Amino acid sequence: MYTDLLLKGGIVVDPAQAIHRAADVLIHAGRITAIGTDLPAHDATVVDVKNHHVFPGLIDLHTHICWSFSELGLVPDDICLPSGVTTVVDAGTSSWPTMIAFRKHIAEPAVTRVIGFSNISSLGIPAGSTAEVSNLHDINVDKTAASVAANRDLMVGVKVRQGIYFVGNNGVEPTRLAVKAAEQIGVPVMVHVGKTPCPLSVIMDLLRPGDIITHTYHGHDNGILDDHRAVWPEVIEGRKRGILMDVGHGGGSFKFDVAQAAFERGFFPDAISTDVYTANVNGPVFDLPTTMSKMLNLGMPLYDVIASTTCIPAKAAGRTDIGTLSPGIPADVAVFDIEEGEFSFRDCHGDVRIMPRRFSCVMTIRNGKVVYKREKKKKSKRSPVTPPHFFL
Ligand SMILES: [Zn+2]
Repeated sequence: MYTDLLLKGGIVVDPAQAIHRAADVLIHAGRITAIGTDLPAHDATVVDVKNHHVFPGLIDLHTHICWSFSELGLVPDDICLPSGVTTVVDAGTSSWPTMIAFRKHIAEPAVTRVIGFSNISSLGIPAGSTAEVSNLHDINVDKTAASVAANRDLMVGVKVRQGIYFVGNNGVEPTRLAVKAAEQIGVPVMVHVGKTPCPLSVIMDLLRPGDIITHTYHGHDNGILDDHRAVWPEVIEGRKRGILMDVGHGGGSFKFDVAQAAFERGFFPDAISTDVYTANVNGPVFDLPTTMSKMLNLGMPLYDVIASTTCIPAKAAGRTDIGTLSPGIPADVAVFDIEEGEFSFRDCHGDVRIMPRRFSCVMTIRNGKVVYKREKKKKSKRSPVTPPHFFL
């Protein structure tokens, strides 16, 4: 049973439709039916969202949520629903041998929409110490492609971790094989960079338009910046060619200094994702709104922050039914406050910054149903590093 809802008077930001203005959003039978001013409620329950922001349900393009078969895995609804995230993308924790487990144990029981990238390695990522592409015998291009092709409702691409620890002596061969698998079935590859055995441009040269670099602002060697802290021309060129740059914050893959230098030159991310997993969910990552807040505070415009967590990751995942409030699509909606004050944020290198703005989720609607509502705020003595809504 659906309750029809009229979200009244919020500031709607939906970059897919070039909307950034005060408007009402009408939800009928689990779908968005209209956006406009002074929409009549008819039988719908009116929800006053004046002074709040209304976004399409957020998409976190890089997470680890295979809680039943990976040490890294979080329970998707626990991290997503209080964060305005209605679609969560697992980035290669599972692969072809665990496809059924991913569907039955992770995706089907979740209220959050769960999709994923299949790891190019048959091992997936069962533990933090897994070096899954250090032995090329663990890569089966054909089985990976066949498994993704047979599960296209669930699987949106192929993931490879190109860090030196994971690839061992195999150079960029794992990335080359991931592209080979993805090419067979017309899906993108997501490549983990950071501590890579070669410059980023060597990896980008292997990639096609629509492929994704994750951990863009890591603070290790072979990053996006040259010795003068400018973005390498080859990286700018690769991006112009259509390669997408994703944040993938993680426990060791985001440095304020790197992002700041890149942002000063207008090099904002295409997608903002957390790379949240068990070892970073209690800091420095916490959740997607925390990562979004860092981007906003570093100078990324609000409209772009929302595009990077809605329509751009939707397109990257090849999905047209998410990441927008277009009439007709399932009603996944996130209502947010953008709070002002003094908030503490930390990167992966111990750099703590006090910043003036913070995203705070007020309400999450999934498929037309309210699945999270923030409790009225109580006075708290907790550190402001902890988001207001998480693990209360
Ligand atoms: Zn990851």
